[in-house]
Amino acid sequence: MAYDDQNIFAKILRGEIPCNKVFENDHVLAFHDIHPQAPTHILVIPKGAYTDVADFGENASPDEVSGFWSAVSQIADENDLKGDGFRVIANTGLNGGQEVPHFHAHILGGKALGPMLSKAA
Ligand code: AMP
Repeated sequence: MAYDDQNIFAKILRGEIPCNKVFENDHVLAFHDIHPQAPTHILVIPKGAYTDVADFGENASPDEVSGFWSAVSQIADENDLKGDGFRVIANTGLNGGQEVPHFHAHILGGKALGPMLSKAA
């Protein structure tokens, strides 16, 4: 799938739409999800144009990949999630229920999150 530079996270990266920023460095921007599904719900996005985690894994540079996952760990630490634990989700494509076609990791925590998936198969 070609990258759509009109997606909402691309607009946030360009500063065309505001976000509630929690972290930024050369590689990533992180901000609070607008519809939080846990007491802490942070989205981490790379600054590069990647549609999903597969595109990111195949095409991002080693610096981008390591910068991204280091940032996820740092953000979890800075938001006091490491002690009690947290969950990282990367919804991907149609079956994954991905809504925004710019790769992002959800960091969820602040309470026991229950089973990973609903029981309905
Ligand atoms: P996904 O289904 O993995 O693509 O998740 C997209 C997420 O982006 C959802 O949890 C939305 O609530 C969130 N979202 C959409 N627009 C915004 C926005 N402008 N600021 C922050 N989060 C957003």
